[in-house]
Amino acid sequence: MKMTVNRIRVVVLGSPRSGKSAVVVRYLTKRYIGEYSSTGDFLYQHRVAFDGVVSEVEILDTSNCAIRGCLAEHVRWGDAFAVVYSVCERRSFLAAAELLSLLERTRLSGCAAVTLLGNKRDLEHAREVHAEEGQELSLRFGCQFYEVSAAESCAGAALAFHALLREARALALLLPAPRRKLAAYSVSKVIGTILGLSNKSVRKKRPSLSI
Ligand code: GDP
Ligand code: MG
Repeated sequence: MKMTVNRIRVVVLGSPRSGKSAVVVRYLTKRYIGEYSSTGDFLYQHRVAFDGVVSEVEILDTSNCAIRGCLAEHVRWGDAFAVVYSVCERRSFLAAAELLSLLERTRLSGCAAVTLLGNKRDLEHAREVHAEEGQELSLRFGCQFYEVSAAESCAGAALAFHALLREARALALLLPAPRRKLAAYSVSKVIGTILGLSNKSVRKKRPSLSI
């Protein structure tokens, strides 16, 4: 079968400490590493093949971008968005609702693939947000929804990212919009690197990882 190649830019948004970095690293490396640097944005590149299509995927793991003032730019840059909250922190759920609303206002509705991820589902005893609330929110904004646990398993993050990429591929066929480039100065372009991560083998493997 002939393989087509497309490029998809995924932006991962959400409150600090909701587990954005953990979910991204889980998806890319299948590993869970307890602590991550939260001092900047990280851009990962990876090539993924499924459904007979190869995608060159860039994943921007953001950090405090609302405070640092680069949120609007990230929203313009992305083709697909993963909005992460922690099921143990209602405040992060409210922030996720704000982000979904912002995406709806600033992107033409239906022009971007969006998924809502309720992370830390392993911490059931500390749960503050019911799964039904996540479902209702995703219904309200017409986006996908998954509850995942970066700490507990690879499957949830992989399912969620593949579903997001599938939608982004479908939209790319429907809407061949001109690409809007993110200004180089606005993102610390650390490809495949997490600051403060000492495991060199993980660091080396990440840029060329394909799943
Ligand atoms: P970020 O600021 O959104 O990138 O969040 P991090 O990925 O840095 O995670 C914040 C904290 O939550 C870290 O201590 C992680 O180890 C922890 N964490 C992330 N995901 C999970 C999860 O699924 N379950 C549990 N129990 N802890 C998690
Ligand atoms: Mg982070």
